[in-house]
Amino acid sequence: MKKQNIYLCQFSLAFPGEKKILYLPYSVGLIWSYARLDNKVNETYDCNFLIEKKPIDKIIEDLEDPKIVGFSSYVWNHNYNLAVAKAIKEKFPQCIIIFGGPSVPYKDKDFLLSNYYIDYVIYNEGELAFYDLLCNLQNRTAKQDIRGIGYLEGDVLFANDSTRIQNLDCIPSPYSEGLFDNLVKYYKDRDVTLNVILETNRGCPYGCTFCDWGNGILGKVKQWDISKVKKEIDWIGKNKIEFITVADANFGIYKEKDYAIAEYVVETKAKYNFPKFFHYSMSKAFFPVHVEIAKLLLGNGLLRTFSVSLQDKNKDVLQAIKRKNISDEGFENLYKMCKKENVPIATELMLGLPNQSYDAWMNSINYFHEKDIYTVWNPTSILPNTEMNRPEYRKKYKLVTEINVMPSSEYVDEHEEVIVQTNSMTKKDLNDAILHTHIIDVLHGHGFTDMIAKFFSKITGKRLIDFYILFFNYFITYPDTVAYDWLNPLKNHVEDKKTYALYGGATNYPVFQRLGWTERKRFFSEIEKFLHTIIDKKYAKDLIAVQNFRQIHSYDSKETILELEWDVIDYVFSNESEINHSAVYKIVYTPISKNFDTFASFIINGRFLKKWKASFHKQSQ
Ligand code: SF4
Repeated sequence: MKKQNIYLCQFSLAFPGEKKILYLPYSVGLIWSYARLDNKVNETYDCNFLIEKKPIDKIIEDLEDPKIVGFSSYVWNHNYNLAVAKAIKEKFPQCIIIFGGPSVPYKDKDFLLSNYYIDYVIYNEGELAFYDLLCNLQNRTAKQDIRGIGYLEGDVLFANDSTRIQNLDCIPSPYSEGLFDNLVKYYKDRDVTLNVILETNRGCPYGCTFCDWGNGILGKVKQWDISKVKKEIDWIGKNKIEFITVADANFGIYKEKDYAIAEYVVETKAKYNFPKFFHYSMSKAFFPVHVEIAKLLLGNGLLRTFSVSLQDKNKDVLQAIKRKNISDEGFENLYKMCKKENVPIATELMLGLPNQSYDAWMNSINYFHEKDIYTVWNPTSILPNTEMNRPEYRKKYKLVTEINVMPSSEYVDEHEEVIVQTNSMTKKDLNDAILHTHIIDVLHGHGFTDMIAKFFSKITGKRLIDFYILFFNYFITYPDTVAYDWLNPLKNHVEDKKTYALYGGATNYPVFQRLGWTERKRFFSEIEKFLHTIIDKKYAKDLIAVQNFRQIHSYDSKETILELEWDVIDYVFSNESEINHSAVYKIVYTPISKNFDTFASFIINGRFLKKWKASFHKQSQ
C-alpha cells in the first residue's frame, strides 16, 4: 500500500549575509521520530521536512498529495506559515493542517476562527499530541483523548490539557536516527550552511513574565541521557555541521554532565574539525564550573562569547518581570574568576521592561562597560502565551506597544509587538536609552573610542556613558560630519519605526565599514575636534593616535613605535592620578585575518572576544 505524505514545516529565520544559513528542523523532527516508533504509524505515513522559505506557489507546487501538513510557528515564520497553510487548504481541501509552537495562542478560540483553514492546534510539547492525533486519524484514539490539542466543532472550541513527557529518552534523536540525512545532502550540494539545535534538557524552573517557557507545564526540568547527546554530537561532527545552538534554558545546571558535554564537543571538533561553534544560554544559578566550561570552549575556538543573560540588574525591574538572576555577589565572583582566567564576558539585556528608567538603565550600561563587559540589548516584544501578554499585566505596568515588521521577513511580513512605553519610561526615554546604548555598543564595544572614553572618565570624574551622550549631543549639531550622517536618521527611531536599525550585530555592518574603513581618517579627525570641546586640547592628538592603533584596521602585519607627548596609555591603565610627559610604546598589531572579507565582518565577529584590540608595550626611554 502506498504510504500517505506528511509534511512538517519548520521554516528558518533569514540571516543577513551572502551565504544562506538554515536550521535543521529539530522540533518537528522529534515529533516524527516519536510517532514513527508506532508500527502502524510508520507503515501508513512518510514524512518530509521543509525548512527553507520559498515563494508560496513554489512550496505548493512541490507538495505531493499531502495528507497532513504541520507547522512549527514562531515570530520569524508565523505569518508565512499561515499564508502557506491557507494556500494548501485551497488547493488540497482534504489535507489536515496542524499548527504548534510558541506563536499558537493557548486555548484561544478566535485564533482558530480567524484562521479557519487550521484543523488542529497543539499546545506545549508536541510529541504526545501529534502521535495521538495520528492514532485518532486511524480511528485508534478518541478525539477527546488526544493530549494537548485544540480544535473547533462549529464555533465551539475543544481544548484538551497537555501531558508532560516524563522520560525524554523515549524519544529517539532525529539526528542519529538519520531523519535529516537527505536534507543535509540536498543543502550541502547547494552550498547552504546548516545549523543545529541541541537539546540536553527541557524546561525551566523560572517564570520570567516575558517568556513562554518557564513555570507552567514546562516548569520542571527534564534531562536527556548524556549518551543521546553524545551520539548527536558525533552525527554533527561527521556531517560537518558548523554551528550548534543549545536549546536548554539553563545549560550548566547539571554541572559535571554539562562539562562532560562541552568536553565531548571539543573532542569531536578535534576528530572531524566540526562543529566550529557551540552557543548556549548559561544557567541562572552560577557555579564555578561555568567558567571552566567557557574556558574550555573558548580555548578550543568553539565559543563566540561567554554570555551571561541578565536582562537587567535593577531589583525593581527584576521583581516586575519575576526574574531570578544570579546574585550581585555571584556576579562579582563570576566576573573576578573570568578576569583571572582571561575569559571575556558579554551580557544580554532587554530594554522596554516595566519599572526600567532611563537613568537606572544608563547606570547599568555604565557599570558593565566599566568592567569591560560587552553588552547586547534586545527590545522587549510581547509573546502570546506569556504573563506579560495578560490584560491585567499590561494595565498594571502601563505597557504601550507597536506592531513592527521584522527586518528578517521573507515573502510575507512577520510582525512583532514591541513595547515602546511603560509605567516608568516615556517613548522619548526609551528612544534615548536605545540610542545611547547603541552608540556605546558601536563605539566603545568595538574599539572606536574606548581608550578616549576611559581617559575622559578618569580626568573629568564623569561616567563613561557621559562621554557618549556628549558625543551624540555634539555631532547631532554638525551636519557635515560622518557621525551626523550615522546618527541623525536614528535620533527619533521609535517614532520613525526604525529601531530595528539599532539592534546591533550584523545591522551595524554599514556603520562599521564607514567609520572604521572608508571614512576612517575623516571620522578620527572629527573626533579630535570634538575632544577639544570636552577636555584639555593638549591631550587630543595623543589620544587619537592611541585610539587609531588600539583598533586593528589593516590586513598587513604591523609593529609600530608610537611616540607620545603625554602618556595617556599609562594614565588610563594605572592608578596614577598624574599624566606623565612623553612615552614610547611598541604596538603589537595582529593583522585582520584574510578569512574576513571586510573590516566590518572582522569587527562584528571579533566583538565579544575583543579581537579588534592591538596591545601596547611601553619601551624604556
Ligand atoms: S527567560 Fe530564561 S530563565 Fe526566564 S523563564 Fe524563560 S527560559 Fe526560564
